[in-house]
Amino acid sequence: MTRSLARSNAQFRRASTRLPLGVASNFRYWGDDRTIYIKRGRGGRIWDLDDNPYIDYRLGYGPAILGYADPRVDEAARQGMDIGGVFALSTEREFTVAERIAKMMPAAELVRFSNSGTEAVMAALRLARAYTGKESYVLVEGSYHGLFDAAMWLVALDDWDPSRTDREPAVMPYSQGVPEAVRPLVHLTPMNDANRLEDLLRRKSHEIAAMLIEPIMGNCCGITADIAYVRAVRELCDRYGVLLIIDEVKSGFRVARGGTQELMGVTADITTVAKAMANGYPIAAIGGREDIMRRYGRGVAHGGTYTAHSVALAAAEKTLEILDETAALETIAAYGRRLQAGIKRILDARGVVHCFAGHPSMGGLFFAATPPRDYRDWKRSDYSFYDALARELHEEGVLCEPDSREPWFICEAHDDSCLAETLAGFERAVDRTLET
Ligand code: PMP
Repeated sequence: MTRSLARSNAQFRRASTRLPLGVASNFRYWGDDRTIYIKRGRGGRIWDLDDNPYIDYRLGYGPAILGYADPRVDEAARQGMDIGGVFALSTEREFTVAERIAKMMPAAELVRFSNSGTEAVMAALRLARAYTGKESYVLVEGSYHGLFDAAMWLVALDDWDPSRTDREPAVMPYSQGVPEAVRPLVHLTPMNDANRLEDLLRRKSHEIAAMLIEPIMGNCCGITADIAYVRAVRELCDRYGVLLIIDEVKSGFRVARGGTQELMGVTADITTVAKAMANGYPIAAIGGREDIMRRYGRGVAHGGTYTAHSVALAAAEKTLEILDETAALETIAAYGRRLQAGIKRILDARGVVHCFAGHPSMGGLFFAATPPRDYRDWKRSDYSFYDALARELHEEGVLCEPDSREPWFICEAHDDSCLAETLAGFERAVDRTLET
């Protein structure tokens, strides 16, 4: 093992004096001696303060879909900068970007912008409540929809006994500070169980405004909804007067131009998109059915000082143009398939049982014969091998998230040399993991 983190460790100690955990976001803290600080990123690679190179499969949790510092997008962003930033007034590009989103994702008949996925989902839920006049909502177990209070609820599986069919696991807040007052509004349901959802809606639909779902769970190792399940969800929402919010913050403009909705042939009432839409510049959007979205003109609050910032908007215009009009997504998916085939060869040769979940552009690696069908499956599985392997991969300069729930993200700039280096590193990392 040759990787030194001396400078990152020193930076950690310095940063900790001013930033809690030494970082700007809790998820970036990987331990006192493992937290890395980044100097720069180019294409599919990043370098830390110690100049250790990494082939990056995190891509900032997905946004850098074309690769870091893509010259086409950055040139557009510079033009956006020339416009002047923020005016608390509108600019022409809002319309052109909204037009592009509507073309790529037909569920987004009308569009509004936000600065982050959290803001977009928060806005979508408020809109659903305003439209339906109801307040509670359904989340899929194991999902992540952002940091706002309504989204921060987990199913507590640690002390749950799956053999006790008479008792459901408890629902618990993801964080201290999430008000207890929200709890009665939250309903959790396991992925891929339409009967369970129907039972819930039959009993509670009079109070449920919306069902939120990420059909390919970008925060739970790519657990994927069966097409039949998504269609059943659509049908049940219609039958019970519940709006369907499909959260495509990670999957949108990535797994297909029209996200999971295009792949699965289902249409949301409200859609949220973010990460891939501007190759890393901070912008998100809420798109939806015209009659729902027009509520923004009739009493539903939406705004934000930085909303549709001229730099992020220009970056979004260029990124979406590339994703829509070139073969970038096909290139990305092809790389993902080759990566998975290479990993499979290595693991099969060593008799390591494994499978992939999700989509090749955001695939989960799972050490079991079949992919998890819901969060309970993942929780019951042995993910200690993944955790150990991830550490070894980092030593090899292959950067995946240490938490196996985060899929491996692919960008257009991942090329043949990235693939060859990744697989060579993967082979050595697996062998070391198996030895220990
Ligand atoms: N929804 C989904 C599906 C996400 O993956 C995320 C972020 N990982 C969010 C919402 C929140 O987005 P942000 O981090 O931009 O607030």
